[in-house]
Amino acid sequence: MSTVTVKRSDLKAGEVLCSYCTARCCRYFALPIETPENWEDFDHMRWYVMHGHCSIFVDEDTWFLMVYGDCKYLLPDYRCGNYEDRPKICRSYTTDDCEYDNDGTYDRFFETPEQIWEYAHAVLPPKKKKRKKSQAATATQKLPVVHI
Ligand code: SF4
Ligand code: SF4
Repeated sequence: MSTVTVKRSDLKAGEVLCSYCTARCCRYFALPIETPENWEDFDHMRWYVMHGHCSIFVDEDTWFLMVYGDCKYLLPDYRCGNYEDRPKICRSYTTDDCEYDNDGTYDRFFETPEQIWEYAHAVLPPKKKKRKKSQAATATQKLPVVHI
């Protein structure tokens, strides 16, 4: 559910949408990550999320790591304190399709390591049980070569 007080369609001529926003786009970054395919991949993702201040989401089959954190140039009134020297990615971003009024829902969304692990258990084949060390050692011991 959107929590905005002013709808895009209510903007008057000359008004800027960002004036009504708490700078949602300046408070995180998200990077695409490889699609997890096995237990090790999910274990890595589990480790990311253990650090807090981040989550994993999937949008149109692409997996992303989202890291929460306000840009150091974000001013208390939600304006950019580095406007003239802001990075290219900020310059090219527009309000046309920004997250101002999106509801923050994704195809999949993981906030805790437990959620990731539960999902891994649902989609992966069961983990192979580790053999006890002594058994493993015995199994890898080579047979003696018999010379005839
Ligand atoms: S571009 Fe969109 S999300 Fe970013 S500050 Fe403006 S209205 Fe908010
Ligand atoms: S440099 Fe400015 S526009 Fe870019 S993320 Fe930081 S506060 Fe936002």
